[in-house]
Amino acid sequence: MSSSLLELANVGRTYHSGGEPLTVLREVSLTINSGEFVAIMGASGSGKSTLMNIVGCLDKPSSGAYKIRGVEVSSLSSDALAALRRDTFGFIFQRYNLMSDLSAVENAEVPAVYCGMAKQQRSAHAGELLQQLGLGDRLQHHPNQLSGGQQQRVSIARALMNGGPVILADEPTGALDSKGGKEVMAILVKLHEQGHTIILVTHDSDIAAYAHRLVRITDGRITSDEPQQKGEANPQAKAGEVEKDVKPGMAVLGEALKMALRSLLHNRMRTMLTMLGIIIGVASVVALMAIGNGAKQDVVERIQAMGTDLLTIMRGPPNVRASANIVTSFLPEDLPSIGNVTGVAMAIPETNISSLLRFGNQDLTVTVVGTGENFPLVHDWPAETGVFFSSEHVRRYAQVVNLGQTVAKNLFPQGTNPVGRYVLIGSAPFLVIGVMSSKGLDQRGNDMDNSVWLPYTTGGARIFGQRFFNDFVVRVKPDADMSLVQADLHTLLMKRHRKEDFNIRNMATTIETANETQNTLTYLLAAIAVISLVVGGIGVMNIMLVSVTERTREIGIRMAIGARGFDVLFQFLTEAVMVCFIGGLAGIVVGVGGGLAVSALAGWRVIFTVAPIIIACSCAIVTGIVFGYLPARKAAHLDPIEALARD
Ligand code: ADP
Ligand code: MG
Repeated sequence: MSSSLLELANVGRTYHSGGEPLTVLREVSLTINSGEFVAIMGASGSGKSTLMNIVGCLDKPSSGAYKIRGVEVSSLSSDALAALRRDTFGFIFQRYNLMSDLSAVENAEVPAVYCGMAKQQRSAHAGELLQQLGLGDRLQHHPNQLSGGQQQRVSIARALMNGGPVILADEPTGALDSKGGKEVMAILVKLHEQGHTIILVTHDSDIAAYAHRLVRITDGRITSDEPQQKGEANPQAKAGEVEKDVKPGMAVLGEALKMALRSLLHNRMRTMLTMLGIIIGVASVVALMAIGNGAKQDVVERIQAMGTDLLTIMRGPPNVRASANIVTSFLPEDLPSIGNVTGVAMAIPETNISSLLRFGNQDLTVTVVGTGENFPLVHDWPAETGVFFSSEHVRRYAQVVNLGQTVAKNLFPQGTNPVGRYVLIGSAPFLVIGVMSSKGLDQRGNDMDNSVWLPYTTGGARIFGQRFFNDFVVRVKPDADMSLVQADLHTLLMKRHRKEDFNIRNMATTIETANETQNTLTYLLAAIAVISLVVGGIGVMNIMLVSVTERTREIGIRMAIGARGFDVLFQFLTEAVMVCFIGGLAGIVVGVGGGLAVSALAGWRVIFTVAPIIIACSCAIVTGIVFGYLPARKAAHLDPIEALARD
């Protein structure tokens, strides 16, 4: 006695897709036992395929009940339905429904991917099945290199891949010539003998004659259901096979990676363009961060070059911007008491303005610095020719000046010694008594050699028009405690000025201030990078939506042969992430290359660090996940029937 395998009771199906609801199946009641060979016959449009799709769990009845092995199908989750399609049913379609990108073996393998069979095992099994079906020499052929009959045999191998106890064949010979049709029918007969339950849909009575039981369907109703002379159902039916508890995991990942790579290679140009946004985003982060780091390091080194044991006392209270200009209390009288603080080696005032310097008929805009005679010692900056002005010059308001290298070079013809000549600052004549050695750029990138130095007394009286200074620079004795000296200076100036109208910077705070500017720049860069990644991500999303639309049919096939919604989602997500990941890697290469090119061409210093590279690359991957999710979800939610119907 065979057990009742499939049981439809009063099943109806109404389509609502058009304007008017269209009832295609009415009150269909049908019981099919394990080991039967049933032909469902009817005219075109009578509802055979609709019935078959319901039987195969690709579609659901609108009314009535459908039980598989006694379990009501409407109570099952979509994953459980996918498992039924994967392990119980084997679909054979009129139009084969093979995937054109895959070889015969790979096509046959696919159902085993979704039950988690390892790659080697499944290609061996698929090869065996194809061999048995007479395709042993066609394993690596693609569908377009195979005849219709051969393609149909590949699809039979695919149906048998996970056992296929119940074979659902919807007009399997419909697209074949009579020879190919006979071959396919011979295979079905043999499968039935081996114990498979076969349900065959056809409009051809010659084909239906192969079956043991004939069900006629007219306009969605069963009009007759009778056995043919062939005999009983096969007693050794294997349709009772239980579902396996499978964990597709690695197999699905492998398949997703393979398919993603294939799809990306298939549309190379499109892939490249899609990646461009990601590449630009990542490359700009990597290159700009390297340039930024280089600039930062330059600044730090310039600050350090100015001397590590300097304290600068600046006008204006700490942390109040643009408050310096109103402070007029930095006076010559402060100097001796600053010099007397324990640990202070020497102190100089500094005031500078930009002014026109003239020699003969040449003039030049330079920085005029009014300072003390200890300037060369404080800044480690000696004169190269001549001498620096002395305390005597300061005391006598002498009209003497020292020139920076750039000034000397630009104002005097080559070979002329400026020492002993007179230059005009504004309208006042100054005697050049020395030319300073070269110092280079300061922390803001200004040329420090484009300056001239004169006694602060003379400067105050003739150039600046003010007695007070812009700041004091203090050199601390080598063995003194920097922070102690700083604290003492603070106490002293608080006493003298009676309010905190100054702030004292040491090298650490100066570097910090310089870095703040750099950090602002870094945030700006990060923002630009995020924007370009978002733009790139939108590009990825766009192209993935196109990809899902293009491959709707493939999705339908995969779902029909057992892919769960998650498997489809995962496949498309993998593709999106792969685009972004490869784009990210390419971006790193372009970014590093661009950074190196800039450093070679412009002479900028670049410093590559690992963190931005890792961050940029992970951002690219996250972009793939975020922007790939929507298209992937769209793919996973496709209705397999509609997807299969798509061309
Ligand atoms: P058969 O396989 O017997 O030729 P089908 O089951 O494919 O017939 O179709 C039966 C009827 O249902 C046809 O009139 C067809 O136009 C209609 N039909 C099939 N699928 C859909 C659908 N997704 N939406 C609306 N009508 C459909
Ligand atoms: Mg049909």
